[in-house]
Amino acid sequence: MKLIFEKSVRGRTGVLPGPTDVPTSINIREDRLRERSAEMPELSELDVIRHFTELSRRNFGVDTNFYPLGSCTMKYNPKVNERIAGYPGFAHLHPLLPQLRRGGMLTQGALAILYDMDLLLREITGMAGFTMQPLAGAHGELTGMMIMAAYHRDKGNKKSIVLAPDSAHGTNPASAAIAGYRVVSIPSTECGDMDLDALKRALNDEVAGIMLTCPSTLGLFDPNIKEICDLIHSVDGLAYYDGANLNAIVGKARPGDFGFDIVHLNLHKTFSTPHGGGGPGAGPVGVQEELLPYLPISIVVKRNDGTFALEYDHPKSIGYIAPFYGNFGIVVRAYAYILMLGKEGLRHVAETAVLNANYIRARLRPYYQPAADRVCMHECVFTTTEKMAANGVHALDIAKALIDRGFHPPTVYFPITVKEAIMIEPTETESKETLDAFLDAMIEIAQLAETDPEKLKVAPTKAPVSRPDEVAAAKSLNIACL
Ligand SMILES: *Cc1c(COP(=O)(O)O)cnc(C)c1O
Repeated sequence: MKLIFEKSVRGRTGVLPGPTDVPTSINIREDRLRERSAEMPELSELDVIRHFTELSRRNFGVDTNFYPLGSCTMKYNPKVNERIAGYPGFAHLHPLLPQLRRGGMLTQGALAILYDMDLLLREITGMAGFTMQPLAGAHGELTGMMIMAAYHRDKGNKKSIVLAPDSAHGTNPASAAIAGYRVVSIPSTECGDMDLDALKRALNDEVAGIMLTCPSTLGLFDPNIKEICDLIHSVDGLAYYDGANLNAIVGKARPGDFGFDIVHLNLHKTFSTPHGGGGPGAGPVGVQEELLPYLPISIVVKRNDGTFALEYDHPKSIGYIAPFYGNFGIVVRAYAYILMLGKEGLRHVAETAVLNANYIRARLRPYYQPAADRVCMHECVFTTTEKMAANGVHALDIAKALIDRGFHPPTVYFPITVKEAIMIEPTETESKETLDAFLDAMIEIAQLAETDPEKLKVAPTKAPVSRPDEVAAAKSLNIACL
């Protein structure tokens, strides 16, 4: 497809602007003025409509096809969330409106939602208080690490190390490092749990805490999770829970009850707000009672007269982590979703997410090698079989072959502890028919990998782009080059 600039024909236009009544005399310094007018593409309205409609038809998203991308929870986002977040009272709220006094009436509803969401997330996670401000999961992690550092500084603890399992999501060690910690990796056992002996060996007074997720990035629930938290506490460390994919346990178990001190959630995964492509997210952070003074400002409070306000006077707070109050629209979407589902609905989310993942695991077991052959939570990890490897078939070939069959590839080569990893997260929103269609494609690909592997190595053949040089594409990005 030609770029819109390449389609330009001099003099062609799509609009006939009438005479303007806007005065043109603005004081722009002479040396700031353009020497010649900007080069804009010149096209008819129809050309423009066709160009962008054609581009939109090439779009692949969860609203068009199945998207089993492990650790990403690419589930359906109910459209009612969008509708509610779009109400003018939310969507048109100016961040500089006063909270109380004149105009305050306009912000009371928004503050009430932030306040109420805090209460809901406390109940869901077993924590004592939340900030809704962080703008993404990784941003929540950094906030949590800064809270951890503030806690130790306050207590006079000299600590420099944060532990993380070797299967950790990459953002975990990155966040700890940005907060100034040295990261020590704890190996996993053969069956995918944290190696408790290795953890005990790594424990010392320098340990500020641990960052981990349960279920792990292998989709496994670590049966020693409580003991791990107790061990960390035994050296006055804090346990940080990465709750990006809480849909595995939501309504069933609470990280606060396992013994975690700090938690972040990805509203844009578990709580069904749209994500992908770098769109806005929200990574609320919850803490236990003794860490409440360190939460970022401002804090939403309810006054005795029933009105809501933002509080800034928290001397131990880590300070500002986001301008104004985070991605408010995302919080509204998640709030609508939680209220719509209620307690039973959220429980059903976890049950279905786990059931769907285990259905995939059970049906693919004869064709792919499970990374850990036991009941999984919300996702399951496979690797290529010996026969596939002998035929030179890699996880990447399987991923590319799925594109031709109308499916988004699963996550491949993560977690890095599994060679040729294929990590599938079906989510709770997919029907059995969709899962079956995906499984049929996966099984057909597995059979091709044994009988006609060359066919897989040229896939995809039906997509607009086949196999780009991913390194070159990242280094010299040209998003208009289709
Ligand atoms: C997605 C994810 C993150 C990071 O969340 P972002 O919003 O992309 O920053 C962190 N941990 C886990 C386990 C995740 O799946």
